[in-house]
Amino acid sequence: MRITRTLLPLLAAALLWGCTTSAPTPAPVRLVALNCGEIQIPDISPWSPGFNAGKAMTFSNNCYLIHHGKTWMLWDSGFSDALAANPDGQAGPMNMRMKRSVTLVSQLAAVGVKPEQITAIAFSHSHADHVGNANLFANATLYMQQAEYDLAFGPEPAKSGFNPALYDKLRHNPMVKLSGDKDVFGDGSVVILSTPGHTAGHQSLLVRLPKAGAVVLSGDLAHFRENFELRRVPRFNFSAEQSQASMERVARLLQSERAQLWINHDSAQNATLPHAPKFVE
Ligand SMILES: [Zn+2]
Repeated sequence: MRITRTLLPLLAAALLWGCTTSAPTPAPVRLVALNCGEIQIPDISPWSPGFNAGKAMTFSNNCYLIHHGKTWMLWDSGFSDALAANPDGQAGPMNMRMKRSVTLVSQLAAVGVKPEQITAIAFSHSHADHVGNANLFANATLYMQQAEYDLAFGPEPAKSGFNPALYDKLRHNPMVKLSGDKDVFGDGSVVILSTPGHTAGHQSLLVRLPKAGAVVLSGDLAHFRENFELRRVPRFNFSAEQSQASMERVARLLQSERAQLWINHDSAQNATLPHAPKFVE
């Protein structure tokens, strides 16, 4: 009896020790969609050549904030916050009208985050509707495909439809240049997927959420659901062949991961998603 009483605390301590030395608990991951503008398009047929002639569509445009443990990561940055000063927006190519009703910075503030607290950043690609606020994040570690880097920071970015003034302050960021996928935090929860085609170094993002399950953030892999289902490639993409292959790859991944595909510019789907300050866990 005396021995048992003496051993009990030791046994308890041993059990506790056992618990604390088992596999580390994965860091909690949360995802929030931010309203980063919209694009009004009078004729979407250039996005689906041979179809939808004269059909108008409004594209949503999100940014996504990821909270991994204590780290904040931003995926895409939307149109420049300066656009919010003009309620009528700004005219763009192909008779587009680009608008932003609420700034990125104000939405970050609503979830208690200042731009300088974001220490990891990645863009699906370098077009203006995705890198418009890039210059706010000149200290964050930038995850970028080498192929995209070479064009965006090379001698002729305009040839790829890029405007370097929007992201030039990132030229000297801590940078992780990629030639394929990247498990950002090393625990499988946030994985950059190489999905070239729309641009040379286009990428998508797989986020494995503890409750909601896996979500793939499309970037411009496809601009709306119909184009993804039918594997249609916009006429201005960098490579139609790579675009097709990337859509096929993601379609297979959606099955194996039982993942949702959040199509960034699909306003019908976007209307069903919670936005900041609401997180998805
Ligand atoms: Zn886009």
